[in-house]
Amino acid sequence: MSEETGRAVVRLLESSPSVATLDLTGGAPELHEVFRPLVKAARRLGRHVIDRCNLTVLSVPGQEDLARFLAENGVEVVASLPCYTKENVEAQRGRGVFEPSIEALRRLNALGYGRPGSGLLLNLVYNPVGAFLPGDQAELESDYREELGTRFGVVFNRLLTITNMPIHRFAAQLEREGQVEAYMSLLVNHFNEEAVLNVMCRSLVSVSWDGRLYDCDFNQMLDLPLMRHGLAMALDSIGSLTELEGLPIATGEHCFGCTAGCGSSCGGALAREGRGP
Ligand code: SF4
Repeated sequence: MSEETGRAVVRLLESSPSVATLDLTGGAPELHEVFRPLVKAARRLGRHVIDRCNLTVLSVPGQEDLARFLAENGVEVVASLPCYTKENVEAQRGRGVFEPSIEALRRLNALGYGRPGSGLLLNLVYNPVGAFLPGDQAELESDYREELGTRFGVVFNRLLTITNMPIHRFAAQLEREGQVEAYMSLLVNHFNEEAVLNVMCRSLVSVSWDGRLYDCDFNQMLDLPLMRHGLAMALDSIGSLTELEGLPIATGEHCFGCTAGCGSSCGGALAREGRGP
């Protein structure tokens, strides 16, 4: 994202007072030069800011002050940790990732993150290591709390369960393992009407690095843009985010990933478990 695009995001926040949250994501958004100016500008405007953090970024040389920066600006940290065991985390995220992740969580805890009364939110994200749906969010949260607390002295606020979407890297894995059809059937057979009411595309807009607008991150990955009058929309084609209200949402087969079982979004499960097949 260029500095100009970053400034356009801030202008849009200024002209859209009903937007309460700026949610920053990417492989490691903190390493981008626009990250800290965007965080400060959004906080000055009184908006809540979320950093989707891969944890290992906290130990990258030159980022020694990152955890303190996040704490000083009251940024909520949402961190990917697909399991509490080294084996499963490294099976999904690569070798050598587990210890730095635990170290990063301890560093955040030491600043008050995840501790009652600090106001510093630390939420963890679980997604299945394979072609199955996440288990019950509350039960998994309880397991995480017990295991991370006992083994590593780590505390956190909430665990968010997220379904693996059948796109990009996970789609390639399904293809390699000959599981595309079985996984799509699993999603379709567990369609949950209740989750549809809460899918995240109904309340958020995703802005890509070059300022184009999408209904969600997944549509951004699939290059399914948000359209108005047949034209793909970008930051410079709107004056306020209220102009997006009522526009149709671009959907596809991948949307079954958001509506299966308890549903799935950037904020975790969306509903009670559906009745299933
Ligand atoms: S994948 Fe589909 S249902 Fe899920 S948030 Fe995006 S547009 Fe909505």
